Amino acid sequence: MTSQPPDNVRAALRALPSVDRLLADCGDLCAWYGRTATRDSLRDVLDAARHAIRTGDADAGTPADLIARARDLLERRFAPSLRAVINATGVIVHTNLGRAPLADSAISAMNAVARDYSTLEFDLTDGKRGSRTTHAQAILCELTGAEAALVVNNNAAATVLMLSALAFGRGVVVSRGQLVEIGGGFRVPAIMAQSGAHLVEVGTTNRTRISDYAAAIDEQTAAIMRVHASNFLQIGFTESAPLAEMAALARERGLHLLDDVGSGALYDTAAYGLLAEPTVPDSVRAGADVVAFSGDKLLGGPQAGILVGNQAAIERLKRHPLARAFRADKLCLAALSATLDHYRRGTALTAIPVWQMIARPLDDIRHTAQTWAAAWGDLAQVIDGESTVGGGSLPGATLPTAVIALSVNAADDFLSRLRRADPPIIARIAEGRVLFDPRTVLHHQRERLVETVADLI
Ligand SMILES: *Cc1c(COP(=O)(O)O)cnc(C)c1O
Repeated sequence: MTSQPPDNVRAALRALPSVDRLLADCGDLCAWYGRTATRDSLRDVLDAARHAIRTGDADAGTPADLIARARDLLERRFAPSLRAVINATGVIVHTNLGRAPLADSAISAMNAVARDYSTLEFDLTDGKRGSRTTHAQAILCELTGAEAALVVNNNAAATVLMLSALAFGRGVVVSRGQLVEIGGGFRVPAIMAQSGAHLVEVGTTNRTRISDYAAAIDEQTAAIMRVHASNFLQIGFTESAPLAEMAALARERGLHLLDDVGSGALYDTAAYGLLAEPTVPDSVRAGADVVAFSGDKLLGGPQAGILVGNQAAIERLKRHPLARAFRADKLCLAALSATLDHYRRGTALTAIPVWQMIARPLDDIRHTAQTWAAAWGDLAQVIDGESTVGGGSLPGATLPTAVIALSVNAADDFLSRLRRADPPIIARIAEGRVLFDPRTVLHHQRERLVETVADLI
């Protein structure tokens, strides 16, 4: 014999409306989320109500309550996981927050080729098939002094491509001081193994001389490679071979010189109070055959891996099957070309967000910080701080900034409420206080940030 539920429970269950009854009142939800998803969420809400009734909650709510719950459920189910956030951390190229925000011109360029058909692989002069590799090439050559260029998905792909195309099955000589891990799965020995090239380690962790490279070269060797130690600093008793000497050695032995410069600065970062980052034009001038760098670090553009170098070497990369697998899409090429255009016009410092942030005067940041602190009241205090470039560029390099330190009771809890705001705000904690660095907060987000924080205090 099965036990019968008590009368009041049976009555409450019977009183629940059917899915179809509720659905009839959900015209707006059906229009927005679709009929199937709306019906599914109503079904789930009704299941939960039945369960609640059986376990002692005799009142499941009115039909309007049930529909409101379905609406909440749909909102949560349809919320995109990839969302815009406000970066108040002071880390300019924040890898977890999407690295470089794009210049307005880059966004417009993406929009145009996204909405309409484009000349991605079409030559308007003769009406025949064109090549996507032409789009950013001329401007990259102009800006870096290289003979040819190729754009792929990211710098990790660029590195694999140059090694596979130029050194598959053969040796590549690398200093032990440069067998680095950049983070997010990029380790030089692993990348080398994937590319099919054989790693030949030379020197020691702290010192590698040009004679070390020379001694390691044999008939199996295809290339010498330099990898920029992007995210750490070596100080003290250190030595590395200058790129120009590596280039001379490579030329003399008929080898390729490959240079993974990482961030790929086109500007001299030292001019902005930062450490000197190797610039791409410097590498080209020093004689590297192929230079690889990222599009979304200090360049301030979309995710991309950029390869520049001599004509013959870049031609071999273009013809390699992996070039097809790694090729950049039209949105990337449009955004990259528009970003590079600012360097050509000399407007990078004012138009590219990463460079605007780097170049933003301290007085200006302090002024913003004071305005925010005033809006947030007694709990807020403006103090000196440090912004960082981040994104595996310029290790240890910081920019003096002014931050607002907010004294709240439970800083961790406050941080998590900031993350639940719309748009979410990402801040950090130091010495029990919540810190906001205005340097990395984009202009159009400032008002929203000030209001949201004021509401949460
Ligand atoms: C960042 C970096 C990479 C990886 O570049 P992605 O564009 O993230 O793929 C490779 N090498 C160096 C030296 C780097 O700094």
